[in-house]
Amino acid sequence: MIFDTHAHYDDVKFKEDQKQVIERQFSGGVSGILNCATCLENIPETLKLCKKYERMYAALGIHPSDCYRYKSPDDSLSALEKVISDNDVRALGEIGLDYHYDFSPKDSQLQYFEAQLCLAEKLGLPAVIHDREAHGDVFERLRSFKGIAIIHSCSESAETVRQLCRKGHYVSFSGSVTFKNANSVREAAKTVPDGLLLVETDSPYMAPVPHRGERNESLYIRYIIDVLAEVRGDTREHIERITEENAKRLFKII
Ligand SMILES: [Zn+2]
Repeated sequence: MIFDTHAHYDDVKFKEDQKQVIERQFSGGVSGILNCATCLENIPETLKLCKKYERMYAALGIHPSDCYRYKSPDDSLSALEKVISDNDVRALGEIGLDYHYDFSPKDSQLQYFEAQLCLAEKLGLPAVIHDREAHGDVFERLRSFKGIAIIHSCSESAETVRQLCRKGHYVSFSGSVTFKNANSVREAAKTVPDGLLLVETDSPYMAPVPHRGERNESLYIRYIIDVLAEVRGDTREHIERITEENAKRLFKII
């Protein structure tokens, strides 16, 4: 069974057929989905989905591209902490740094990232990390982080991945590992120990080959698993089993 550790089924791209798509995932071989909110405004929709579907779990956080919405971290992060304490939440995220887009100023991104890493430590939740073109600053912040991080849609080098794994952080691979020009991602995928490997869609984005460019869904993870099996010299059954076990242990799913 497939466990999708990063999806956005609350996205507007599922407006027309959200119910049918989600039901198709669970009836087709998906055993769990972590749906990640990205701002205070879309938290209610994530929580609603997680109440409706038994095997859908919530990650709540403020994305680096969304922190521009708030005046200061004080109010927005106390609101976030309150909603996490009042609900069944399995991870803090997604949080991180995005230097590709400049929706939010860099200093504000850093402020939110650091404060939410502290919150993850305080609440004892794994932190889902978004890192786009910000490897150095993300790595630097994780150096002092005492919790467990999940590197989402890994684009780090093999050497960085090796160091992150040495600290016990998890690494999650998305459709990008199937892209033709993604040799460095495939190299990184070889270095992750079995016990720290995860898979994800980042749905509706990042669809793997042969669906690249289309709306992504959790069942397409089988193409990601095929590539991971090939580069790691394992069977696809093995990759599917360990990634599911890792996700369930990490998100405390019995
Ligand atoms: Zn995402």
